[in-house]
Amino acid sequence: MSKIDFASELEAAVVAVRDAADVCQSVQKNLVSAATLEKKDRSPVTVADFASQALVCSSLAEYSKIAEVVGEENAAELREAGAEATREKVVLHLRNARGAEVSTDQALDWIDLGGVDPDDSIERYWTLDPIDGTKGFLRGEQYAIALGLIENGRVVLGVLGCPNLPGPDGKQGCLLTAVRGQGAEVRPLMGSGRDGATRISVSDITSTAAARFCESVESGHSDQGQSADIAAVLEITEDPVRVDSQAKYAIVAQGDAQIYLRLPTSKEYREKIWDHAAGMIVVEEAGGRVTDARGFSLDYGHGRMLENNSGVIATNGPIHEAVLKAVADVVNFD
Ligand code: AMP
Ligand code: MG
Repeated sequence: MSKIDFASELEAAVVAVRDAADVCQSVQKNLVSAATLEKKDRSPVTVADFASQALVCSSLAEYSKIAEVVGEENAAELREAGAEATREKVVLHLRNARGAEVSTDQALDWIDLGGVDPDDSIERYWTLDPIDGTKGFLRGEQYAIALGLIENGRVVLGVLGCPNLPGPDGKQGCLLTAVRGQGAEVRPLMGSGRDGATRISVSDITSTAAARFCESVESGHSDQGQSADIAAVLEITEDPVRVDSQAKYAIVAQGDAQIYLRLPTSKEYREKIWDHAAGMIVVEEAGGRVTDARGFSLDYGHGRMLENNSGVIATNGPIHEAVLKAVADVVNFD
């Protein structure tokens, strides 16, 4: 297997996520003031999603040695007749970020760099969620730009940009990073290089009764009735922290909650690799544990989805077994 330099890949990923976060933030700010919320118009998030993927992919193409990106989006929809207005908006954002010479074809090609289908012949690839938590984005709340690096079916590096979570400098916006075996850090979302980076670690509590848990805002993404029953078994008294996106992993990794419960709402749903890769490694490298709801390791060796897993449980570690036992008491996996 060819060798790669994790330090330089990490910095490439940081630059890519920062670039994308900048555009996402400006779109979200506009959207909140433009009363899009009332119109229930999803088009701003669509524009930001494509622009974010284009920026991350073009940045990686320049600074990373790893060419393959498995992104959530591809440009097929944007190339169709009828998508002109959205396409133009995406291109305008990219010109603002990269210069007036960016052509429409260039923009679409950047997005399509993220259209790789993972298979066994690709030993290493990035996986990208250009805007994770689109519903939170539209509500003006939490969302994330999530970029993970997968090597032979294992997540080895992750960068998670959370524009609306407070950073280590007390300002809005943080960027969490992790490299397998090297720990996890948080730095300000919009700083330069490693400026202000500090090591993070999970909470060290050992009693579930003292724990706080987070879960999705969207009841369609995680069974909130079952999580309430599990919390009762664990004697948790605090209300759940409901947050969109992989910001939940960021919260557990920094010790602000001890549990993230993602309980399947259907037997058929399979989690997507880009919804978990970056967040998972950040929690693990901060000292925590991540499994599926049955306690199995998350298996990234099966393409775009976690085919062999159901749900996700992340904890600070010491309470993981107790949480899994409570999940098994409440959830019927048959
Ligand atoms: P969250 O912000 O944690 O609610 O998760 C957002 C992610 O949920 C999106 O990126 C989707 O890929 C994913 N998602 C969509 N449908 C489901 C579902 N039925 N169960 C779990 N996750 C889902
Ligand atoms: Mg997502």
